[in-house]
Amino acid sequence: MFIVMASPECAPIAKAGGLGDFVHGLCRELASRGNAVELVLPKYDSLRFDRIEDLHKVHSDLWVPFYDGAIHCDVEYGEVDGIKCFFIDAHSEHGFFNRGKIYGDADDPDRFAFFSRAVMELLYKSGKHPDIIHCNDWHTGLMPVLLYEIYAGLGMDRTRVCYSLHNVGHQGWTGPHVLHMNGLDAGRLMAAERLRDPGNPGAVNLMKGGIVFSNFVTTVSPRYAWEIQHTEQGMGLQDVLQVHDHKFGGVLNGIDYDTWSPQRDTHLPVRYGPETLPEKAKSKTALRARTGLAEDFKPLVAVVSRLDRQKGVELIRHGIYYALEQGCQFVLLGSASSPEVNADFQRIKDDTDASPDCHLELGYDEDLAHLIYAGADMILIPSVYEPCGLTQMIAMQYGCVPVARRVGGLADTVFDANYSDRPFEERNGYVFDDFTYAGLESALGRAIGLWQRYPEYFRQLRVNGMRQDHSWNGPAQHYLDIYTHIRT
Ligand code: ADP
Repeated sequence: MFIVMASPECAPIAKAGGLGDFVHGLCRELASRGNAVELVLPKYDSLRFDRIEDLHKVHSDLWVPFYDGAIHCDVEYGEVDGIKCFFIDAHSEHGFFNRGKIYGDADDPDRFAFFSRAVMELLYKSGKHPDIIHCNDWHTGLMPVLLYEIYAGLGMDRTRVCYSLHNVGHQGWTGPHVLHMNGLDAGRLMAAERLRDPGNPGAVNLMKGGIVFSNFVTTVSPRYAWEIQHTEQGMGLQDVLQVHDHKFGGVLNGIDYDTWSPQRDTHLPVRYGPETLPEKAKSKTALRARTGLAEDFKPLVAVVSRLDRQKGVELIRHGIYYALEQGCQFVLLGSASSPEVNADFQRIKDDTDASPDCHLELGYDEDLAHLIYAGADMILIPSVYEPCGLTQMIAMQYGCVPVARRVGGLADTVFDANYSDRPFEERNGYVFDDFTYAGLESALGRAIGLWQRYPEYFRQLRVNGMRQDHSWNGPAQHYLDIYTHIRT
């Protein structure tokens, strides 16, 4: 099959979170099964160019329609861990992709609406007829609209679209000008059954457009699929997802075992697996040395997260003090985009800096993340909502036991040591329901107690997690089945 993936992110060259990992892992797995896979990304000035092989210009004459005129783009090509990538390089005074970052500007809807048009124009002008275009999140929600409204009539009538929702907390709310920008009929498309935002009749909702116009819509876990159809987690999209229920489902993400495997990870002092678990202690020692923690007989609890309301920052803060009170050590690696949240965690850092048992690192650090998963005993994930969550799957792979709130993909992957109805060998962590201090303590307290009093049972939980298959193997097959289903 010929599959074109369009995304605002791809690990490791342009990653802000799990979407980057998804694109990297799924593209590689699909290609390894003999499919022709091409990825299209914006050519951000912030790309990790050192990780792109043989980047060179392949088109210098792509003119992308923009209001009554057109913007001149170059297209470059290079490979990222074997993935064939095309990069749209836009030349205009807007500097759409020259912001030193991926997201976070007021004109983000314009930037990505333009990107969506540029990808479609590139496919059309280069005469490509993919079987499937796989679009991701609101940033590329306009692509199926453009395909149906414009490009199908220009001959791209056999291409089908699979659209994946990675986080409906961000839907690309904007004004009808993005439709005018792209030569689309705003009058017709602003109808309630098309792109009109359910909560604001004057606004365009790009994610809703993607849902309505795609041939199939997925989200990143079965539980999140249910939550966004039936609870306020849908953030206003519940109705449209129910109307389109016949073409909607959840597919749990995988993790890339080439990147995330303690048997192969070059970030670790010594590699290990379920049969050589005692070697994990060397990573704990290395992590303590790296973060200035004392060498002591204590469990090490960690957080690796964006510090965002979604991730349960209040409970993360409480978890730090609770774990320290219970005789643990704590390492946090967290990046906050909000200055207030950053200042809040800076205060906690100042407050705990003298402690030999606590280290907070505020920022994004891929290398340290690897060492934390390997060195920590438990990882805390108290999310308000979690579409899939990769941290719990990565942590389990490294024998680090997750303590997680039972929402979204966390509910689909973390099974409580005491209360799960699963067989013992599938139990791999601790879960709680209530988003309260008491809820968190109920799970974290049990995990700490087990580490302290029943080490053999704790070891078994680690091994259970390490033996579970979270590779891309199963999910990639699921996506291929979806592609096949919508193609015929
Ligand atoms: P989200 O996509 O909502 O941020 P996920 O759990 O799906 O959450 O994916 C998070 C990914 O980002 C994981 O690969 C995790 O290791 C990584 N990550 C999160 N925060 C940091 C950080 N501060 N430094 C390094 N890696 C991080």
